[in-house]
Amino acid sequence: MSEKIEFVQRENLKEKPDPTDLSFGKYFTDYMLSYDYDLDKGWHNLQIVPYGPIEISPAAQAIHYGQAVFEGLKAYKHNGEVVLFRPDENFKRINHSLARLEMPQVDEETVLEGLKQLVDIERDWVPEGEGQSLYIRPYVFATEGVLGVRPSYSYKLLIILSPSGSYYGGESLSPTKIYVEDEYVRAVRGGVGHAKVAGNYAASLLAQTNASKLGYDQVLWLDGVEQKYVEEVGSMNIFFVENGKVITPELNGSILPGITRKSVIELANQLGYEVEERRVSVEELIESHKQGELTEVFGTGTAAVISPVGQLKYGEQEIIINNNETGPVTQKLYDNYVGIQSGQLADPQNWRVVVPKY
Ligand SMILES: *Cc1c(COP(=O)(O)O)cnc(C)c1O
Repeated sequence: MSEKIEFVQRENLKEKPDPTDLSFGKYFTDYMLSYDYDLDKGWHNLQIVPYGPIEISPAAQAIHYGQAVFEGLKAYKHNGEVVLFRPDENFKRINHSLARLEMPQVDEETVLEGLKQLVDIERDWVPEGEGQSLYIRPYVFATEGVLGVRPSYSYKLLIILSPSGSYYGGESLSPTKIYVEDEYVRAVRGGVGHAKVAGNYAASLLAQTNASKLGYDQVLWLDGVEQKYVEEVGSMNIFFVENGKVITPELNGSILPGITRKSVIELANQLGYEVEERRVSVEELIESHKQGELTEVFGTGTAAVISPVGQLKYGEQEIIINNNETGPVTQKLYDNYVGIQSGQLADPQNWRVVVPKY
């Protein structure tokens, strides 16, 4: 099934960045994976090429009509091994996103094999410090140069790699302040909220900027119809701990089905927590907070892994969660999750995929 991958070597390798100054998405490695699609040949020309600018038609459809989807995952280094976390889930999801935007499916195994070979070549770029990883960004966009609103006849898939630092800077989890957005919405049922579509982020920026100006870290989105039910946060899914139960909004078509979300649900079940996926209204949260039953809130996503929420603002109401500290359930899930990811704990589900040396 797998296609032959051509390797185009670059003349000089780049200098590696200072590992104490990585932050997120700032540096890119020497190479990227590139794969082309057109109607005649289907997917073809699978290559590992030097990272650098690409030529694109000014009329490329992605720029005008937004056919563009992406993924995000991480590679970790532990005891000299480079490991991916559930990468099959990302390529399953990219096909889900592609289908929604009427873009061609990719062969998941071929692309995953290409990614492994790319990461193998770049294994020296995988940082080893606490909380550090190689962030992996696969994406597909429409390249046909024609102005006409219809699916493009040609596409490009690229995978670029960025060594990234700990999301929290330091080692410990630090609770974030969240603004519950009651004017703008991110997605509606029947739309593209369940797909990892570039335009979803474009649509979220105004609310994010407004929340930042008011001193909040992220926006919590409500459902697009009644603006009553909680959906998700920025680039994270959201969880609540109420009376010891772990609760998260059910996937309803407008929420992005996070791989961290799915994994945290599985992990919470294994750790013996009762987990509920259901509708959660903001009113319920405010009420249960008043009763002292809402003890923890946290977000989940590849970038931050698990991120505690210390404060929620909704209209005139401001609620403080767990005294603005990381709660025990959040901490336990985080420790177990990161332990499995990094190879320090057993991995009974085989979530870790070792990158072979080719
Ligand atoms: C990517 C993303 C998430 C988190 O998904 P993970 O697979 O856990 O990284 C959550 N919400 C949105 C809108 C996203 O784009």
